[in-house]
Amino acid sequence: MLNWEDPLAKFNEPAFRPQGPDRHPHAGDGLVDNESLMATAGAAPSVNPLLAEPADTLPGALKPDADADLTGTGLEEIEMGAGRIRVDDKKIINCRADLNQLVPFKYDWAWQKYLDGCANHWMPSEINMSADLALWRDPNGLTDDERTIIKRNLGFFSTADSLVANNLVLAVYRHITNPECRQYLLRQAFEEALHTHAYQYCVESLGLDEGEIFNMYRELPAVARKAEWALPFTRHLADPNFHTGTPENDQILLRELIAFYVIFEGIFFYVGFTQILSMGRRNKMTGVAEQFQYILRDESMHMNFGIDVINQIKIENPGLWDQAFRQEAVQMIREAVELETQYARDTMPRGVLGLNAPMFEEYLHFIANRRCSQIGLPEQYPGAGNPFPWMSEVLDLKKEKNFFETRVTEYQTGGALCWD
Ligand code: FE
Repeated sequence: MLNWEDPLAKFNEPAFRPQGPDRHPHAGDGLVDNESLMATAGAAPSVNPLLAEPADTLPGALKPDADADLTGTGLEEIEMGAGRIRVDDKKIINCRADLNQLVPFKYDWAWQKYLDGCANHWMPSEINMSADLALWRDPNGLTDDERTIIKRNLGFFSTADSLVANNLVLAVYRHITNPECRQYLLRQAFEEALHTHAYQYCVESLGLDEGEIFNMYRELPAVARKAEWALPFTRHLADPNFHTGTPENDQILLRELIAFYVIFEGIFFYVGFTQILSMGRRNKMTGVAEQFQYILRDESMHMNFGIDVINQIKIENPGLWDQAFRQEAVQMIREAVELETQYARDTMPRGVLGLNAPMFEEYLHFIANRRCSQIGLPEQYPGAGNPFPWMSEVLDLKKEKNFFETRVTEYQTGGALCWD
């Protein structure tokens, strides 16, 4: 039994003392006190001995690449006594000024989104899932169609947010050459981790089959199609040999930003969000719905940040936004609407919760129009209305306490917290 008065007391017993070099503590041994660790000091190398060799004897694979182009990464050699950064030196892509200095700010919108993201901080484990578990276990609690909606959306989102995080960290970040934008990207990356955590927390709380949920994106075509569509749009940016700085490559960056921010986060998430939040509005699976409510608020900001970045790149590089490129962007958005409409049909073939696939088709047309106008493209679906006006209320969570009234925490932290 553990001794909570002194968790290390057991190490004072002779049996726990290292008896010699073969008694080194190993992973899985449990708590190890400092004395035991010190007794093993020097017994085994803690670093790769090759690194201690003179540089000229290092195997080629371990040598830093002297020719590596680190320009515009923030990892260049420090230039002592270089002139101080001026706002005008800053550029959102292809910047040559020092990227390690946050101020002076040039893009206040990026810094503000970083602050807003931090003010909206939340943790999945703070949300009570007990009512969901009781409902899920009750054989009469949910229809088969409702269970399908929960499982397929957990299947889609659990890997989709991970894909977005990997795209951010391994592909996008390197090419956005502005510290305040990068500050938001770092916040966004953490939020994507929280979202993946939230889906895992739902799966665990409900006792779902983890293998089934986390493999849906490669086992169930309805879930797989959207990830398959998006993956090619991360390949250039993730390629270590890809660099922006030519019109052609800058257009590739712009195209891949549109694919992830405007389409993946701005269109592909919206059928699932609406389905799960509809359930919450009917007092079903309110814990899962509350998780999705906070995720949607974060995602809405991710998308708006991406749109600001895209528009800023256009302002600074107007030549990139030519007729052919605009047509291509419109085509991508129209294709995405088709795919997401198909996702609505696949996840609710019979209609459920007062929702049906044609309503989603109209909603997607409405959203796509909005996305087009946000990045300066003509609206593609004239007259499309919004069959789910309540979704806009969920997106504007600043004033309300909680959409589903399951608790009274406002989830605003720090200086942004309003006590009224
Ligand atoms: Fe996101």
